[in-house]
Amino acid sequence: MPAAVVRLDSRASSRLRTRAGPVVDSIHMIALEHVTRYFGDVAAVDDVSLTIPTGGIYGIVGQSGAGKSTLARIVNLIERPDRGSVSVDGTELTALRDADLRAARRRIGMVFQRFNLLGSRTVRGNVELALELDGTPRAQRAARAQEMLDLVGLGDRAHSSVHELSGGQQQRVGIARALAARPSVLLSDEATSALDPETTSSILDLYRRINAELGLTVLLITHEMDVVKSICDAAALLENGRVVESGRLVELIQTPGSRLTSQLFPIGPIPENVPADATVIDITFAGGTADRPVIAQLARDHAVDVSILGALIERIGGTQAGRTRLELPAAASAAIITDLRRQGLLVEVLRGADAAAQTGGIA
Ligand code: ADP
Repeated sequence: MPAAVVRLDSRASSRLRTRAGPVVDSIHMIALEHVTRYFGDVAAVDDVSLTIPTGGIYGIVGQSGAGKSTLARIVNLIERPDRGSVSVDGTELTALRDADLRAARRRIGMVFQRFNLLGSRTVRGNVELALELDGTPRAQRAARAQEMLDLVGLGDRAHSSVHELSGGQQQRVGIARALAARPSVLLSDEATSALDPETTSSILDLYRRINAELGLTVLLITHEMDVVKSICDAAALLENGRVVESGRLVELIQTPGSRLTSQLFPIGPIPENVPADATVIDITFAGGTADRPVIAQLARDHAVDVSILGALIERIGGTQAGRTRLELPAAASAAIITDLRRQGLLVEVLRGADAAAQTGGIA
């Protein structure tokens, strides 16, 4: 191993520069800088700059048409951006020529919604395919493919035809194939969208295990908020080709006005029967605050009736988190909101402009 020297670059990330090789970014597995891709006049991806940390599970989320799949294809340069640069595992893909690009792409394992398996090959034959492309000798291919099938729980199905497998099992073969060439990142494009909830959950467990056991960075492209909730550490929300929010989920859920958080806690609109003069607030709990009997206590301390209009408790980004929507009597609301904020809770005022003005909340 060549000696390494550590230096800080202008983005203040720590990098290792090996004397023999190119710059290796040890913190960011993927770095996109000002990436733009047009289809005609439509910017499917519009000036996206994003860094995906090494070793985590990162979600790219958004509605259909937001630009997720285009962005996924840009990450491994199946789609070339019109502008901007793409770096994966320390290599700037946008600067590479064809042969080097093909080699660099092998460092990115791809898992697709439609599995893309070859019906003419056995289960193991499909996993070996990735290794045939990089010239791995036959005996090593078979051993590695078997090892990957064992990892995904299909060790005993190596000689089956892919047609004999269920959708979830076929997706496991897709994952084994993506892992066979020892990628540094696993890119999953709507991999669970065609699966039922139970199978989805077992595939997500598999991703979690792969991330933990192999230390592999996982980039999940999905329109399913449940997927984000269940396994992502961090996420970026795409709208009309732009990143409108990004970051660690534990931080986003404590950020006032976060749209991603509203989608993680879909409490819905304020019911029509709530009096127009009542104050309506959302309280978001995360970590330690999720365990405290906050609402019972505020009803006691302020001697008021508090109506719960909606509530959701979830495990998000490895943390217990919840959001509760309350209706408060207008007269007491300013004092209650001040009190809740003093306890370190995120309080967002949905109705009751006076209270919001007095306490600096968002209306
Ligand atoms: P998502 O994956 O979030 O559903 P896409 O990346 O598929 O979004 O699409 C983003 C936008 O780009 C949409 O308006 C879509 O119609 C357009 N688009 C995507 N691929 C193409 C293409 N090959 N040709 C023309 N327009 C495209």
